[in-house]
Amino acid sequence: MSGEYDALLERIRGSLNDGKDASRSRFELPPADVMWEGQRTYLRNFAEFAKVLRRDPLKILQYLSKEFAVPAEKIGDKAMFIGKREPDDFARLFRIYLREYVECPTCKSPDTGTIKENRISFLVCEACGAKSTLKGKYA
Ligand SMILES: [Zn+2]
Repeated sequence: MSGEYDALLERIRGSLNDGKDASRSRFELPPADVMWEGQRTYLRNFAEFAKVLRRDPLKILQYLSKEFAVPAEKIGDKAMFIGKREPDDFARLFRIYLREYVECPTCKSPDTGTIKENRISFLVCEACGAKSTLKGKYA
């Protein structure tokens, strides 16, 4: 009985996600691989996020540190945060980061790069060529 119930839940979840994320279905953020040690949280696949997002790992680290309002440190491919954070906390922040620093506002493509002109950062889209101003400083 419970197996059927789980399968049903999975189907419902699947269809909910389909509706919400249809526009970026081909772009998947990796699941956060989190480990706790005392009062510290380690994001073990931090480097993977930086690679997928194609942004400077140190800028991403600064962003997470600011949003969590805790000190953070990059240790090899991992990132360490003071305090206990859940995988969902990371997933939420990475989704916001993706929207604000990676996704093209014009065509929603995640295939973008950043350039700096006269100390102002721009997002340049490789798909449609649009150039847009970046509001924040974490790209
Ligand atoms: Zn675009």
